[in-house]
Amino acid sequence: MEHYQDIRDAVARLCARFPGEYWRALDRDMAYPGEFVGALTEAGWLSILIPEAYGGSGLPLSAAAAVLEEIQRAGCNGGACHAQMYTMGTLLRHGSEAQKQQYLSKIATGELRLQAFGVTEPTSGTDTGALKTTARLDGDHFVVKGQKIWTSRAEHSDLMLLLARTTPLKDGMKKTDGLSVLIVDMREAVGNGLTIRPIRTMMNHATTEVFFDDLRVPAENLIGEEGKGFRYILSGMNAERILIAAECVGDAKWFIEKASIYAKERHVFGRAIGQNQGIQFPIARAYANMRAAELMVREALNLYEAGKNPGAEANMAKMLAADASNEAANVCIQTHGGFGFAEEYDVERKFRETRLYQVAPISTNLILSYLSEHVLGLPRSY
Ligand SMILES: Cc1cc2nc3c(=O)[nH]c(=O)nc-3n(C[C@H](O)[C@H](O)[C@H](O)COP(=O)(O)OP(=O)(O)OC[C@H]3O[C@@H](n4cnc5c(N)ncnc54)[C@H](O)[C@@H]3O)c2cc1C
Repeated sequence: MEHYQDIRDAVARLCARFPGEYWRALDRDMAYPGEFVGALTEAGWLSILIPEAYGGSGLPLSAAAAVLEEIQRAGCNGGACHAQMYTMGTLLRHGSEAQKQQYLSKIATGELRLQAFGVTEPTSGTDTGALKTTARLDGDHFVVKGQKIWTSRAEHSDLMLLLARTTPLKDGMKKTDGLSVLIVDMREAVGNGLTIRPIRTMMNHATTEVFFDDLRVPAENLIGEEGKGFRYILSGMNAERILIAAECVGDAKWFIEKASIYAKERHVFGRAIGQNQGIQFPIARAYANMRAAELMVREALNLYEAGKNPGAEANMAKMLAADASNEAANVCIQTHGGFGFAEEYDVERKFRETRLYQVAPISTNLILSYLSEHVLGLPRSY
């Protein structure tokens, strides 16, 4: 599999223009890294997966993984814009030619941002089939009513991919049937049935809750067939998990490098702290775990690009990489002693940022449930 060294080098050069000071200032104000996202868009990195026919680079998923890994490895945060890479896939695979012409080329130029993905709801949580937001057809419009939570980047996106129930649940019906995906143009919707409220979180992630109060969405904004939305969203999840896993590998590399440098520089009791096995072994272990996770990301990418369904590998890559970055983050704080908690070292910020991937976009327990049921053949636990 190609390593994309040229892409990695170019992304690293771009990221060098956005050092720790930039991210610290944003973090203090919980502000969006608009300049960083603008630079990535302008350089074409966010449209790398869009086919050339629609103005993108038409590169495979491993190229997108290289971009996101390098962003994290440089200490930046792709969480501000990574969704565009995988939500776009739903439109690409299941949208009509007219929708693709209308949206994809404008997403590629940066004229339109597709950063918001409205699936999670406050009452149903991980149980997506139990979501309550409805979209009722009324003439040539859907009328949307309900609420989403954790809809990240909604204030910094023009479009949202929304999963809503279009067919009421009846006895005997599979609860994941009857859901549909709509493209919501938020530029027109805000103030006309759509309200966005930011949620302050432990890290700067621009996440929100959104309320739909009889929002009218043109019927032509339905993606694919009515009632099949859950399957369309599922079909994008392997790519999503693999890309998040690549980000976690990048985070782990940043933490390991930062910890190794500090362990060599910091002298206590007249010698480098890194000379103590109590300091070097945890860093070495974090490195080994990162490399193992990286191999699983590659395995998942290889299968994905060979047209297979790497459900197990994408899930394992996401879990192992999130564990590796979480472990490396913890080791990095410990290596830095008190300075690990000081804002100016960036370690505590990255520590908070990478913690998210134990929970989102899919929590570790649900990955273990998937493996138990679908790989090991154990009874479904929920
Ligand atoms: C910062 C942030 C950004 C996010 N961005 C988005 C976004 O852009 N779009 C979007 O749609 N969603 C987004 N999410 C939502 C995210 O995908 C969910 O938080 C995640 O899937 C977990 O769902 P939940 O929070 O409802 O937890 P719950 O489903 O309530 O689960 C709570 C805990 O119980 C465990 N649990 C639940 N069921 C089981 C079970 N059967 N077996 C074992 N354990 C179980 C879970 O693993 C978890 O640890 C975001 C979340 C956060 C925090």
